[in-house]
Amino acid sequence: MKKVSVIIPCYNEAQSAPLLHAELCKLADSEPNYEWEFLFINDGSRDNTVEVLSALRKQDKRCNYVDLSRNYGKEVALLAGFDYATGDCAVIMDADLQHPPHVVHDMLRKWEDGFDDVYARRVTRGKESWLRKRLSLAYYKLLSKSTRIDVLPNVGDFRLLDRCCLDALRQMREQCRYTKGMYCYVGFKKTFVDFETQDRVAGQSSMSYRVLIRLAIEGLTAYTTSPLQWATGIGVIVSLISFLYAIWVVIKTIVWGDPVAGFPTLLIAILFLGGVQLLSLGIIGEYLGRVFNETKNRPVYFVRTYNDKKI
Ligand code: UDP
Ligand code: MG
Repeated sequence: MKKVSVIIPCYNEAQSAPLLHAELCKLADSEPNYEWEFLFINDGSRDNTVEVLSALRKQDKRCNYVDLSRNYGKEVALLAGFDYATGDCAVIMDADLQHPPHVVHDMLRKWEDGFDDVYARRVTRGKESWLRKRLSLAYYKLLSKSTRIDVLPNVGDFRLLDRCCLDALRQMREQCRYTKGMYCYVGFKKTFVDFETQDRVAGQSSMSYRVLIRLAIEGLTAYTTSPLQWATGIGVIVSLISFLYAIWVVIKTIVWGDPVAGFPTLLIAILFLGGVQLLSLGIIGEYLGRVFNETKNRPVYFVRTYNDKKI
């Protein structure tokens, strides 16, 4: 019998976890031809999520949980999920029921058809502000323009991965993780199913604008080096403009004998160049910081307990 693991990263999901578990039980009952594992990853929650997960495990032996030593963020929690999942395939799902479990039926059918990565495509984005929607779409446009490998808009972590994808992803052990890009990087046979994002059942989203901006920079710098080329590009353009401007000033002085009004132009030029230089330095710094982090070569996460047992 083929085994399906469901990987669920949880951060402060004490209220949602039992609700999700109930839904997953319904799902498993309606797919009796598979063996099921519900793998919860507690990502250093501040509430009593661990106790809730431990209780679920006592009730239902299909539940396994990994308790990470602190809050590492969803991307790292997912890696822990890839490492601990024992299934022939794994479905990744948020704990807050924003990803409706009934979509998994369609995913399994596509998997049986021979696809390795069945991603769920959002047809609606649920309760989300206009600004967040716009920014996110613009971001994906920028990302796909700056790299050869496409990152798909309106596609998140909700997907089914075959064992071959899981093993590939497990080998990618960088600290600065942008899992959405990694799914595209590893390739394999992909297809999609459509779904409608639901609203969170309980608790609140931990993705503030600050976290999202951080994740966006992470995505860009982890995925492509083209911002470094943009910095070069801006440098070339600015030099060209200043060169043309210099010629223009010389001609003006020789032909018309214009006295050069220096101060305002000088100030503008200095401020502009200063800004461009700081921006470029910042971009280089982002990459350098990542090189620093990666060269330390630390384990990406530490585990406190696996199913109540100390690791
Ligand atoms: N999550 C996590 N670690 C974190 C933040 C979030 O494991 O540091 C989990 C969270 O429990 C949920 C999923 O990632 O299962 C998505 O988080 P959330 O619902 O807060 O984000 P949103 O759906 O608003 O993008
Ligand atoms: Mg959510």
